Amino acid sequence: MTNAERIDLLNLDRADCEALLRDWGLKAFHGRNLFKWVHKHGITDFDAMTDLPKTLRERLAHRARIGIPNMVAEQPSPDGTIKWVLELADGQRVETVFIPEKRRSTLCVSSQVGCALDCRFCATARQGFNRNLSSGEIIGQVWYAARRLGSAPSNVVMMGMGEPLANFHAVIKAMDVMQDDFAYMLAKYRVTLSTSGVIPNIQRLAEVSDVSLAVSLHAPDNALRDELVPINRKYPLEQLIPACRAYLRGDRRRRITWEYVMLDGVNDSERHAKALIRLLEGTPSKVNLIPFNPFPGTTFNTSPPERIDAFRLRLLRSGLVTTTRKTRGDEIAAACGQLVGRVQDRSRRRVALSFDTVASPL
Ligand code: SAH
Repeated sequence: MTNAERIDLLNLDRADCEALLRDWGLKAFHGRNLFKWVHKHGITDFDAMTDLPKTLRERLAHRARIGIPNMVAEQPSPDGTIKWVLELADGQRVETVFIPEKRRSTLCVSSQVGCALDCRFCATARQGFNRNLSSGEIIGQVWYAARRLGSAPSNVVMMGMGEPLANFHAVIKAMDVMQDDFAYMLAKYRVTLSTSGVIPNIQRLAEVSDVSLAVSLHAPDNALRDELVPINRKYPLEQLIPACRAYLRGDRRRRITWEYVMLDGVNDSERHAKALIRLLEGTPSKVNLIPFNPFPGTTFNTSPPERIDAFRLRLLRSGLVTTTRKTRGDEIAAACGQLVGRVQDRSRRRVALSFDTVASPL
């Protein structure tokens, strides 16, 4: 059996592992143990999985593999951030960023090779789109970080390259593994999915998951958002805001995080702040202002710190919880919007724009 024909265990969640072993005529609990070896212990050598029957270990060695990514570059930044460039089986590359903080550590994970959305201020968009990642390639980033660092990160944000809600099934499955007690054990509020606003899939997400939701807002009105985040032309604000509110299901402990990139002279005036306050009225919200991170060829500039402060204070005065995201890893082009990886074939860009919004079983 060639390597490609073997079952990639990283693509399996716990239920899949159990089902596989039942198929092989074994007890399901062996499947759970196998899943644990792969994710909790990070073991790739089947022979070292000592509580599995010997015959099963031999069968796994013939029929299965653990498709971990190949790390081709590790860039540590003076602020402790680390960016990894990970190569996938077909040679495509994605970037994953580790961001340590005092009381937590966050892993920023990619969901696609490149991105098909054309957000004007994002370097990933410039690269074009190649393909979706499989759930194994998504969880493989967490697997890799946990091995490299010696322990799993305390938080995961789906904020790397790609639009996670345009790769729905793989992202959901990978987020389930992140939260599994036999894998990475992350609490649901420690997993955050960030979307540019693919509304039908926000609704589907609510049906199958209750991870934290962050939405890339960036503008308080349709005219400006149409320009900055072009998917707004398909899914405008008057539909986006109610869809996000519905995601919270009235649970008063939860809120939507709104990401708002601060672009000098574009979306950062007092008028924009007021419009934003009006827009978010009645929606449990947290606003996260992101100083724009420049990249080669961009025409945007970062708002001056005083303007970001004034904007934040204006929102705070209206009662909106507002923070300014600390820029991390910009020395190594690992900050928000700076991830580029290496998209080798951009020809599929158009295909991805028709989102898979057909409900199908997970
Ligand atoms: N596609 C998803 C996931 C990307 S998350 C989404 O749009 O939400 C990355 C966050 O960084 C998004 O809010 C994105 O809009 C923002 N971003 C993109 N380019 C940026 C840049 N150059 N500077 C600061 N933030 C940027």
